[in-house]
Amino acid sequence: MKITHDFHIHTSLSYCANETATVDNYIEHAKRLGLKKLGFANHFWDENIAIPENNETGYEITGYKYYPQSHLAKLKPELQKVKDAGIQVFYGCEVEYDLPHRGVSITEAVAETFDFILMPNSHTHMTMPTELYHPYEKHVDFMFQAYEDTLKSPVSRYITAMAHPFMAVCAPYDRDLLYGLIPDDRFRRLFDATAKKGIAFEINTADMEGKTPEEIEDGPSFRMFRLAKECGCQFLFGSDAHSNLSHNFYENASIVANLLGLTEKDILEIAR
Ligand SMILES: [Zn+2]
Ligand SMILES: [Zn+2]
Repeated sequence: MKITHDFHIHTSLSYCANETATVDNYIEHAKRLGLKKLGFANHFWDENIAIPENNETGYEITGYKYYPQSHLAKLKPELQKVKDAGIQVFYGCEVEYDLPHRGVSITEAVAETFDFILMPNSHTHMTMPTELYHPYEKHVDFMFQAYEDTLKSPVSRYITAMAHPFMAVCAPYDRDLLYGLIPDDRFRRLFDATAKKGIAFEINTADMEGKTPEEIEDGPSFRMFRLAKECGCQFLFGSDAHSNLSHNFYENASIVANLLGLTEKDILEIAR
């Protein structure tokens, strides 16, 4: 099937995205790629939740204090201007794992104000103490903890999808090694619970640049995608665009959908 949505788009309101990450540019991409639904998901840490201080990650997680609701909401008038026939836009966010509270960086009241919410368990470069990078099993366990804490959180009913599951962002070594340390049955227990909660599994094309369909199918994350499907998870696709360039290889979304044999019912309803 052809994937006609992208529910993981950053604009330049995310400080890690560049100046080409504009709504206008993305609308042009959507027309070129035949996308009908675009979900904008800038980084977000709710100002009602204390930001971890003196965090041990060495990463500027405190930068999240610069993402109050009023900052993200600057996108709303821009989205309201989009009147292109056949293209629907959605106002979302990408939250964080809140390690000190073993929860998610958004309150229920604020979660209600978004059309959709992505939750990554794999922003370990920001949320994980650096001593857990080694041995690799600790890194894997941390991602499981973040994922399981999300499922247990009262906010979980507002979570639309788990963003790039287990794709350990900016790991200081080949992150693909980590998938191989996770046996099928451990993934299955997690994905059964995900499916039961109605939370979608995101397939993120950010690490598929330059890959052939064979390389994608033989790649380490593909086994995980298959297991998620077997467990009855629904899927949401996203480019994780941070610039004008990220859609150059978005055809990979449809390639993965075909390799997995996905049909309409496998796609989360909001994205159909
Ligand atoms: Zn992310
Ligand atoms: Zn993202």
